[in-house]
Formats: sequence, structure tokens, C-alpha cells
Amino acid sequence: MDLPVDEWKSYLLQKWSLLPTSIQITISTAKTVNDIFLHSSSLLQPEDEMFLKRLSRGYLVGKDPDAPLFYREEGNKKFQEKDYAGAAVLYSKGVSHSMPNTEDISLCYANRSAALFHLGQYETCLRDITRAQMHGYPERLRPKMMLRKVECLVTLGRLQEASQTISDLESNLAAKSTLAAAPFHILQRNLRHLKRKVQEKENLTETFPAALVNAFEDMELREENEQISSASSSVSLRTDPLKGRYLIATKDILPGELLVKEDAFVSVLNPGEMPPLHHGLESKWDLRVTNGDLYCHQCLKPTLATVPCDGCSYAKYCSQECMQQAWERYHSTECSLGGLLLTLGVFCHIALRLILLARFEDVDKVIRNLHEEISDEDICLPEGKNLVKTVNYGLGESEENGKIVETPIPGCDINGKYKNDYNAVFKLLPHTENHSPEHKFLCALSVSALCRQLEAASLQALTTDLKSSKRKAVTPELCPDVNIWGVAMLRHMLQLQCNAQAITTIQQTGSKENIITDSRQVRLATGIFPVVSLLNHSCNPNTTVSFISTVATIRASQPIGKGQEILHCYGPHMNRMGVAERQQKLRSQYFFDCNCSVCQTEEHRTAAGPRWEAFCCNHCRALMQGDDVLSCGSRSCTESISRDHLVSRLQDLQQQVGMARKLLRNGNLEQAIQQLLECQNDAQSFLSAEHSMAGDIEDGLAQAYAALGDWQKSATHLQKSLRVVEVRHGPSSVEMGHELFKLAQVFFNGFAIPEALNTIQKAEKVLLVHYGPWNDEIQELQKMKSCLLDLPPIPVGPSV
Ligand SMILES: [Zn+2]
Ligand SMILES: [Zn+2]
Ligand SMILES: [Zn+2]
Ligand SMILES: [Zn+2]
Repeated sequence: MDLPVDEWKSYLLQKWSLLPTSIQITISTAKTVNDIFLHSSSLLQPEDEMFLKRLSRGYLVGKDPDAPLFYREEGNKKFQEKDYAGAAVLYSKGVSHSMPNTEDISLCYANRSAALFHLGQYETCLRDITRAQMHGYPERLRPKMMLRKVECLVTLGRLQEASQTISDLESNLAAKSTLAAAPFHILQRNLRHLKRKVQEKENLTETFPAALVNAFEDMELREENEQISSASSSVSLRTDPLKGRYLIATKDILPGELLVKEDAFVSVLNPGEMPPLHHGLESKWDLRVTNGDLYCHQCLKPTLATVPCDGCSYAKYCSQECMQQAWERYHSTECSLGGLLLTLGVFCHIALRLILLARFEDVDKVIRNLHEEISDEDICLPEGKNLVKTVNYGLGESEENGKIVETPIPGCDINGKYKNDYNAVFKLLPHTENHSPEHKFLCALSVSALCRQLEAASLQALTTDLKSSKRKAVTPELCPDVNIWGVAMLRHMLQLQCNAQAITTIQQTGSKENIITDSRQVRLATGIFPVVSLLNHSCNPNTTVSFISTVATIRASQPIGKGQEILHCYGPHMNRMGVAERQQKLRSQYFFDCNCSVCQTEEHRTAAGPRWEAFCCNHCRALMQGDDVLSCGSRSCTESISRDHLVSRLQDLQQQVGMARKLLRNGNLEQAIQQLLECQNDAQSFLSAEHSMAGDIEDGLAQAYAALGDWQKSATHLQKSLRVVEVRHGPSSVEMGHELFKLAQVFFNGFAIPEALNTIQKAEKVLLVHYGPWNDEIQELQKMKSCLLDLPPIPVGPSV
């Protein structure tokens, strides 16, 4: 997904292997990004471009006039099945393939408004009704849609508008006596019903619950840092030759304190796993739903009611505003390149968008930076990650032998301020010397191919611009020296491996019938955050990162003393991987050996392994120890067994649990419980009580009993699963927060009021530290709490 598709990758690797050794050496030993680009791009042949074009055509990114009808009919099927969200997404697909101002687009919008109505999204429903009208919704179908509009307005309490719409509709109906009698009567009856509803509502006094507003200020930095934009004044930027740039605490920091709140400089939605369809097979169009259908491509907000780009079918937005903004900032160039960008991968896409965004900043400075890069032989130092030698304007302080000396900090502006801007992005390290020659060749040729397309597109755009002035398209600034932008894009592609930040979101999993909602973290987009990039890695970080739309927030996850370094985890976390795997991952992706506190201590530890992976003795339940042959840890027991045997038992168990989960998903609850209890029995005979598999089994049992409405049993099993999570991830981890949230739901549904309130409080405390108050789960917890506290009080006798 990040890198180009496999076909293009293997095509280029083949091309690389056939190059004369002398050329391979020239590229392998090239010191600067500029040299790599120049030597490689001259090797791109027309037939290579043809091959790439063929691959790009596999993606359906244009508008297909036959698709709207297909998607509308498929949407109607879902609608009949009462899967309104599924229907809405399919109508959206229909919308994205329709041309503006056609009956097709208006019908899709109108049908979508009906689906949204059933989902209770009244505001969005109203917006879709307006869109349907705007694009010429047929007169004959209008009354039904207007009734829906009235219902929305009534529900939203906008009674005047509702009355107005009713009287418009009445006079409209009166004027049209030609309407067939039966639908006319139904409409009349519906109208009378709605009128009564409006009157009833008007008689009621305003009883809206006080909104859950208050904590928005918690989303703001208490005091903005003068040296670093988007950071709090509790941190300070430092640099030293070994660590490079890093942040330290300037005062004692408490858990939950917001340290960084930064909007992505650039972000690109991950299209999701979506191999191109092979045409000629039974279905020409795609019914699969990906992130691209569910989130705004500009602001990343979730939406079921996307508005498509007028020129393509793949770019979709939450609103007209986002569409406009995207068009002006980058999409006017990207629009015609959809298939190519999907083929070349997210990193290449980000590299292009970066240079498109760079145009809005000081272009002279950008060009100067590029020339500096081109002439700067020292940019690639052998030490990797932490050595920076580009001289820059910014000045920072670092303490050396107790006295303060001024050292330049790369990425800072002339006043020494570090900002979320293109200059800071440009100075992120590309690690040119660490990437393999093949990888550099792959990136360079992909970028060259993109450059050629841009050149061709801008020529085309210039000629079509002469014909129609409608669309101000492709960037004349790109033309003068495509090479310079090519070098910049290659630099960005190389930077991304270490500096790309996955933008994640929590998605509810399981069907809506599931009584306990479960959630998992999914990767939504890839972005660059220059300030977040200042943080170094630790396998046991003292902060936690979360995202709201394109904004990253970093909060302290534990107390951080004054002077301590602020650290976050690049992915390999101590609770998810063993030390060897972490080291391997950090070395291959980030080019450094982790020296964090856990890595230092774990390396000297014996191979007992963590408890969530431990086996236990079949006789005495003590933990087993050893490498290939495990023996019981208890002195009085002589049990021993081969590791292979235990591992294969674990695999069998895993399969059994998987089958039980499937039964659970299909609603075969009794069978699922039966199977899970057998698994539980089996697990107890060879896995430690805190083994993550044991936790999984308990979690499955909790879900099954919840679905049966047995809240007590559900809670008992969930508490066991919670203990496993606590051992593995710690009592204040985000994973623990999600488990507590589930438990709170179970108690709440079972009316176990004291237990529910107690668990809600614990869950809130943990989740607040990680997400701040605007997290969905926290909002949900607050609703549960106010619901429990608002239960009718015990009646008191009449006062005399
Ligand atoms: Zn948006
Ligand atoms: Zn477009
Ligand atoms: Zn480490
Ligand atoms: Zn034993």
C-alpha cells in the first residue's frame, strides 16, 4: 500500500538486475538524492511507461455512465434488507459515478437521503434532499421526498420550516389534480399525520437536554510553546550529536497532559486493500467497501454521505467545502492521475502532494533548499539516524559541560522557531545511505514516471485551458524545472519510510446485533507531522498518540519528571513484540539499534518469556521454562515436554477458537459457548492463566453470554479477560481502557448500577489520559453515566 503495486515493483527489480554492473555501481554509490535521481531517471524508457500505464488502467477512477443505475439497484437491495448503512454507501458509489445535474445523481442523492433518514442522520438527510433538488430531481417523485424533509424538520424541532414545507406541498398537490388517486390519498393522509405531529411538538415546551459541552478547552494546549508551534510550553527542543533532535520536559508533567496538538502538514487517505478488478468477469463494478468510501479524502472525517469530485469517481469528500479546498490545494493536479497514484502507492502520492503544497509557501526558499540539497555532499552521513550536518538558520540551546552553547537546530526558521511547514518537512532525514540500491532505484523510477505524466498533463492542461476556461488546472510552476521537483519528490519518498505517521482511528467491529461493541484500531491514512517527528522512539514510551480527523494529539501516559525525554513508540511496543523482533524491525525500517530502558534490561533476561505467551505445567500449573525442551519451574515436579509439541497444541487451540468465533458471529450462541468452554478446558491444561489465548476465550464467552442476555455470566468472563489485558498491557493502557469500556456496557445493560458506575469511572479515567474528552467511547460512557444517575428518584411524600 505504501510502496508501488507488486507488478511494478518486480518489473523494476528485473530491470535493475539487467543493468550493466557499472551503472548499478554508479547508482549504488551516488551520495546525494540529486545524483540518484539523475542517474536513474535517464534509464526510464517509453516501454516502461507503457507498462505502468497498463497497470494504472486496472483501476476504475473515471466516471462510468452505466454505473449509477447498477449501484442504485444494489443499494435498493440493501435498503430492502434494512441494511441502511450498506445502502447509503452503495448510493454514494452511484453518486460518484454520476455527472453533475443529471437525473442519475439526483436519484442517488434522494435514495441516500431515505437511508440516512432511517439511520437517524436527519441533518445529513436534509442536505442530501437539497442536493437531489439542486441536481434536478424529477417533479413527479418530489412529494414523497418532501414528506421526508418535513419529518426531519419536525424531529429536529425546526417547526417553522416544517410548516412552511407542508403548506408548499399542499398548494403543490392542490394544483396537480392529475395525480393518480391512490398515491394522492396516501400523501394526503401522511400530510395530515405530519401536521398533527408539528402541532403536538409546538405545544411541548423546550425540553432539550443540556448539551455535553464543557471540556473543549481540554483539547487545546494550555500554553503554546514559543519555540515549537503545536507544542505545549511544558516541553523544549534540544539537539545533540548522538540523539539528533529531541524533546524534553521543562517541568513535571502529569498523565493525560496534552503535549502536542498538530495538524498533519500532509495526509493521504489509505485506499484500503483493493486490488484492481479484472474486467470481463461477471461484475464490472465494485461492491466492496473500503475506507475510501467511508471517510472524507480531505479532512478524514467519517461520513456516509460523501460528495464526489466532479471529474473523477475516486475522490470523495464530506462536504462541498472540503472538495473545494482539496481542488485548490492539490486535487486539480491529482484528479486525472488517480490510477497512476493508486499503482505507485501512498508514499509516492504523499511525495507529489507535498510538492503541490510547497507551492503555497515561499517557493524561493524551497528552491534554495533544493539547491542546497543538490550541492551538499555532506547530507548523507554514515552514522544514520541521529547525525545531522546541514547548516541552518535556526539556533537552539544545548547544555555542554554545564554551560549553554548555541547550536543550530535543523528545520528551524530564521528566528529559531520550529514550525509545521514545508521547510521543517524538507529537513526530515531521507537516510539516503541506508536504503538498498534497489529500493532507491524503485523510488527514483516511480518518481520519474510520475514527473513525465505531470509534464504531459500540464501540456495537455495548457491546451485544454485555451479551449475551456472552466477549470484552472495543472500548476504552471511545475513546468519550468520538473527535475528539481523530481529530486524533491524522491527525497520525500525516502524520508517517508522513517517519518510517515500512520493516522489511526478506532472502528467498531462486529455486527450491529452485537450487544457489546468491540473496537479495533485501523490505519486510516498516512501523514507527515513535523513536530511529532521530533520525538524519539522507546519500546516503553511515556506518551500516547491519538487522532481526531487529521490532527494528532500526544498526551503523557505516565508522570514525566522535569528534564526527562518525551518519547513515543514507532510501532514495536514492548507489549506487542519480544525484544529480538523489535530490534529487527527498528533496524530494518528505522535504521537504528534501540537502546531504550526495556531493551537494555530485556536483553539480559533469560528466555522465560512474558506471561501472556507462557506455557504451564499440566500437573502443578507452575510456569514451564527452557528453550527447546521445557521443564516445570516447580522444584518438586519433574514434568518436561518439547516446545514444538506445545506450539502445535497452541495452533490447534487457535483453530478451535477461530471456529467458535465464527459460530458466535453467525448467531449460533449455544454451540459457540459449548465449543468455547471446551477450549477453555484445553487452555487450562497447558497455558498460563494470563496467556493471551486464554483472554481471547474469556472474551468470546463474555460476548456469547451478553448476546443471550445473561449479563452476570458475561461480566464474570469479561473480568477474566480484563485481567489478561492488565497483565499484558498494564492497568492504565489504552487496551485496558477499551476492555473497561466493554465491561461498563455489560454492567449497564444488566442494570448493575453500582458496578456500572464504578467501571464507567475507571474506564473514563484511563481513556481520558489517552484520548482526551472528545473520544466517542468517552462520550458514550458519559451518556451511560447520566442515564444511570437520572433514573427516577425515590418518590417523597407530599409536603404539607
Ligand atoms: Zn471533509
Ligand atoms: Zn477528481
Ligand atoms: Zn527498545
Ligand atoms: Zn509441574
